[in-house]
Formats: sequence, C-alpha cells, structure tokens
Amino acid sequence: MKKISLLVFALALGACSTQKEIVDIPIIFDTQRILLTKEYLLNRYGLDQNTPEITPKMVVLHWTATPSLKKSFEVFNRSTLPIWRPNIESASGLNVSSHFLVDRDGTIYRLIPETTMARHTIGLNHCAIGIENVGGTEETPLTKQQLKSNIYLVKYLASKYDIDYVIGHQEYTSFEGHPLWLEVDDGYRTEKTDPGMDFVEKVRKATKKFNFKPVPTKQ
Ligand SMILES: [Zn+2]
Repeated sequence: MKKISLLVFALALGACSTQKEIVDIPIIFDTQRILLTKEYLLNRYGLDQNTPEITPKMVVLHWTATPSLKKSFEVFNRSTLPIWRPNIESASGLNVSSHFLVDRDGTIYRLIPETTMARHTIGLNHCAIGIENVGGTEETPLTKQQLKSNIYLVKYLASKYDIDYVIGHQEYTSFEGHPLWLEVDDGYRTEKTDPGMDFVEKVRKATKKFNFKPVPTKQ
C-alpha cells in the first residue's frame, strides 16, 4: 500500500513540476493600443516598425503591489494611462501592462502574446518579457506558489527564445549604457523596488542551467 501511494505522489509531483497550464485572459489590445505601442517604440527607442513586435532577450520580474488578480487585471486592461489626455502627456499615453500575471495561488495568466510589446520596464520594453506577480506589499508578500510559477515561466521562455538575462525590475537601471538600453530621454526614470532581490535570486538559482548573463555593472 505504502509503495503505491508513494508512487502516486511522485507521479503527481512530476506532473506539477513539468506541466503548468498557462491560461490566456487577453487584455484589450485595440487599434488605439497598437498605435500607441508603435508610437512608443518609435519615440522612446527610435524603432520604426509596422507591428508592435519585440525580440525577447530578457525576462523582467515584477510585483503589482495590488492585492487581487481582478484589480491587477483591471489596471492593465485599458489602452491608455488612466489620467492621460491626448497631446498633454509628454512621455506616452500607452497604458502599462505585462505579458504574464501570476496569481497568489500560482495560476499563470497570459495577457498578451509573448512577442508583442508591453510597457513595463523603461529602456528595455523592446526586448523584455514581463511577469507580474499579484501582491508584494507587507501584508501580501509573494508566495511559494508564485515563486514556483515564475521559475516555470522562466524555463519555458528560455527554452523558446534567446533569453540572455533574467532580472528584477529594481535592477533595470543597471542596463543604462548597455546595447539593449534604448530609452532616448536621460531624465525619464522611475525608482523601483519590485520584486526584491530575494525572490530574483531564488528564480536565478533554480534556472542556473540556462547560464543567463550577469546584470551589467554600471560604468
Ligand atoms: Zn515592476
């Protein structure tokens, strides 16, 4: 009896670690959002493209600081920034988003195709796939299930694309001066602390067989 239950347990574990479902819940990506994304690529990065496509080179991990999946989804599910009015906002009216949203129980949601640009990391959106995790406040620290799902996603993405870097959002300014850094405005920066080095290091440790490059040190 004991042997059988152990075997079942091992099989269940194996299934969990190798196969996770990615649930598609697309955010609005209408004509306006496509236009604003192309405009963002042109104005911020000097990339004149017919489509809002990216070439993934890195994965950036985030937290939403918003405690629920529903609220986090709502923040991303509009084409323009909430307080934006055409011709007034100087940077861009394009709303923020990410490619993936991981709920507190570890469920993985995909919001937009992996090779479409999302606005989540200044300077690097033309090459960065974003993973947002629901929570991150003192009351809602990221969960073990979220960590497992981030590890799964990084492995999945690194097997599919030519990923060189896995970074936490708080590390993004280390890329200033790097060939992948394309932001044209030296004054356009925001201070970030998400998702914390502890979380990032755990993801890196679990994915070290991919030999990702170390984050560049600023000159
Ligand atoms: Zn972030």
